Parts: sequence; C-alpha cells; structure tokens
Amino acid sequence: MTRSLRIAVVGSGPAGMYAVGHLLETPGLRVEIDVYERLPTPWGLVRAGVAPDHPEKKQIIERLFHLYIDRPEVRFFGNVDVGTDVQPDELSSWYDAVIYATGASGDTRLGIPGEDLPGCWSAREFVAWYNGHPDQRHLPVDLSCERAVVVGNGNVALDLARILTAPIAELEKTDIADHALHALRQSKVREVVLLGRRAACHGAFHNPELEELGQLRDVQIGVDPDELPNDSSAVMDSADWVTRRKIQTLRVLSQRAAAHAGKRIVFRFLASPVALVGADKVDQLRVVRNRLERDAGGEFRVRPTEQQSLLEAGLVLRAIGYRGCPFPGLPFDDRGGVISNVRGRVTGAGAVPADSYVTGWIKRGPRGIIGSNKKCAAETVGCLLQDHAAGRLTPAGKNAEEVAAELLRRRPDLVDHNGWRAIDRVERLAGLVQGRPRVKMVDVSGMLACAAG
Ligand code: NAP
Repeated sequence: MTRSLRIAVVGSGPAGMYAVGHLLETPGLRVEIDVYERLPTPWGLVRAGVAPDHPEKKQIIERLFHLYIDRPEVRFFGNVDVGTDVQPDELSSWYDAVIYATGASGDTRLGIPGEDLPGCWSAREFVAWYNGHPDQRHLPVDLSCERAVVVGNGNVALDLARILTAPIAELEKTDIADHALHALRQSKVREVVLLGRRAACHGAFHNPELEELGQLRDVQIGVDPDELPNDSSAVMDSADWVTRRKIQTLRVLSQRAAAHAGKRIVFRFLASPVALVGADKVDQLRVVRNRLERDAGGEFRVRPTEQQSLLEAGLVLRAIGYRGCPFPGLPFDDRGGVISNVRGRVTGAGAVPADSYVTGWIKRGPRGIIGSNKKCAAETVGCLLQDHAAGRLTPAGKNAEEVAAELLRRRPDLVDHNGWRAIDRVERLAGLVQGRPRVKMVDVSGMLACAAG
C-alpha cells in the first residue's frame, strides 16, 4: 500500500481550511495533514474578521471547518509560530509539501500627515479589537467623540459603520469581545462619516451589505441626492447592473426615515483626507473635494480640486485595504504584497524552500469574500497534486510521531485539537449562560491554561 502524502498547512483561516478540505475530498488520495496556527485558536478571519453581527455566516463556516479538523487524518498545532518556532526549510524537509495560508497581516496606509496620531487606527486593528484578537485587545480605542470617520468604501468600511452605530442590545447577543462591548456601551459616537475618494457608482461595497444598513434600528442613513448620478448621466452610461442596483439602494436608503434616529451614517463621495490634525490625538481631518476625469482609456480617475474643508472627528479608521507581509524565508512580491507564486506554486529568485505552495490573500492579494478562498485553494491543491503525480515532490523526512515529538520539545505549550476543543467548550458554555454564541477568551495565557486543563 502506498504511504500517505504528508502535508503541512500554515494558517488555519478560511484559506488554509479550504485547502485542507480539498485535500481530504480528493478521491483516492491518502493524506495526513498538520495545520499550524500561531494562536491557540483556529479559523483566522472567520473568528477575528467576520463582523460579530453576522453570526449565521460564522456558524456555517465554523461547522464546515470543524468537520475537517475533527477528521483523524488532520492534526492541529496551535500556538506554534512558523518563522520563529519552526522554519520554512525545516517544514519542507519534514513534509512532502507545505501550503502557506497566512493571510494579509498588514494594512495599506494613506501616506498623509497625522496618520500616526492616536485615534487613527487601521480597520485591521479595529476589527481585531472588537473581535477579541489577542494582539489587539489593548488597542486604546476612545469612543468619547461624537463623530467617527471611516476612510474607504468597501465592505469592511460598512462593517465598521454598522458596529459603531448598532443598538447595543443587538451586539449583546453576539460574540463581540467583552472589552469592545463595554466600550460601545459607553460610546458617545453619534455619527459615522464614510469617505469615498471616488463617486457613489465606484463604491467597492456589495449591494447586500449596503441594504443591511437599512435594517439598522434608529440609524439614519445620510446620502446627498445630488451625489447620486441619474440614470442618463455619463458615469452611468457604462455602469453594469450591479452598480445600478447599488445606486438604487443608496437612493432608497437616503429616503428612508428612521423613527428615532439617534445615530447617523453619512456617505460622502469624491472626498479624500489630506491631513489629520490634532495635538496629542486626532481631532480633525482636512478633506479635499475630488472631481472625476476620464483618462485616455476612458476610465474615470479622481483629481483633487482646490476645495478643502475641515471635518471634526475623534476617531478615524482607515478601511482602505489589508496588505500581505513578507514571510521569513519565502520570496516576496512587494508590489502585490504576496508571496511570489505562479498559480499557488512558490517561485522566486534565490533559494526557495522546496515543495512550497500558497493560497488565499497571501497568494492573490486581499480581495474576495470568504468563499473565494475555496476556488483559490482548489487551484493550489490542484498544482500540488500534479507535482505529486509527476514525482516532483521531495519525500517527507519525518513521520507524524517524529514531527509531534519535535514540536512538543520546542513548544511544550503547543495547543492540539483537544486543547482547542477545551477552549471552544468553555467559550460556548459561557455564551450559553449569556444567550450568546460564545464569550471569547482574549488573552493567550488564559487560553493556554484552559487548553492544558
Ligand atoms: P476593498 O473592497 O478593496 O475596499 C477598499 C476601499 O478603500 C475602496 O473603496 C478603495 O477605493 C478605498 N481606498 C483604497 N486606497 C485609498 C486611499 N488611498 N484613499 C482613500 N480610499 C482608498 O477592501 P476591504 O473593504 O478592506 O475588503 C477586503 C475584501 O474583503 C473585499 O474583497 C471585501 O469584499 C471582502 N469583505 C467582504 C465582506 C462581506 O462579504 N460581508 C466583509 C468584509 C470584507 P477605490 O475603489 O477608489 O480604490
């Protein structure tokens, strides 16, 4: 009988777990998979990125990933930092192949004065804060201001606007981190302004997420009707039906009257911050009005005008995109913010650890919904299996027991599948008492104690 193919998957977020799923579901393939995770808890952005007021989405995906990780062919090695505790070239020699699914752990910057003032955070930091990611639990978020500004017009920007304005009673039913719930209970934020650098028809948000804003109780949505193009305008000439739907939704939202509008979400299009102003924390943004201009290829581009204004805000969130970070020992394409690869095979000048593959945002950039990772992982796993069939993979140099023993020697506090299940049980039980899906543990030492206990 042929031996099992031994694969390491680095990262247990959606990208890594869909790769695990594809490997498990490949007919006739005998496989042993070790999933490495820096945190004691799995699921990456499903746990620490998906908005807490989207519980159904989380539950469906988590259930699927549990089906994968509970399989006897799969082991979980949590609290192991690849790049620190174990190096890529070691993994390459221990396994037949390694799939890196490490996501985008950095963020795009505005590149304007004042960006580093306290009170200006990236969406990645803020989302991780309210979702209880251990790295951001101490982010000094101050919600004592009346106005917050979110820069960017993508789905993440809408998530932030919703969480900042949602009725607290709604958030109390979710798995939002307790520290964030406490801060949001005391919040003085009454208005969230969304700044889009281009026009309404160029918003990167999706229509269902836009429509969801209309379901927020007691929140008025402000859209200046003059900012919405009419159907016969030049910008709408080339617009597809998706764009037309979004404009229609914005029109409906602008006409909707909230019964007791205690809070407001305001869309401002064709507006970019040029500086953040404040002595020891952000107090104001200087905003420039943009205009649209067609380039030689007929594409609309924004150009700043002379028109500038000041906007008071004590909290500024940059929701202008995540960014992949270099991974020690692997070639990096700085322009794309991805590990250099061709269809998921890691490639590059110089020494590349053998039999290395990538999937997810670190392969293709920070774009797409969670489900997009399924197709992406299928391509990567397809390439890996082609290489296996062609005899191109260097055989694994350690068996399963040898790898576990070596990892335990380096990380005695490694969290295995049972350890994660113990954390999961305690979180769910705490949630049950409060009528919530779970109450998240947010500090690593508590998680480790729970896993060990
Ligand atoms: P995104 O969709 O790429 O949107 C980024 C936004 O930032 C765009 O409006 C972009 O404007 C703007 N922007 C970029 N650079 C800027 C700058 N220098 N100044 C001002 N604005 C700037 O990114 P995202 O919102 O972070 O979302 C990442 C991915 O996750 C997306 O694919 C998204 O759909 C997905 N996601 C999905 C959900 C969901 O399904 N519910 C939730 C969250 C995230 P331009 O268009 O002009 O470049």
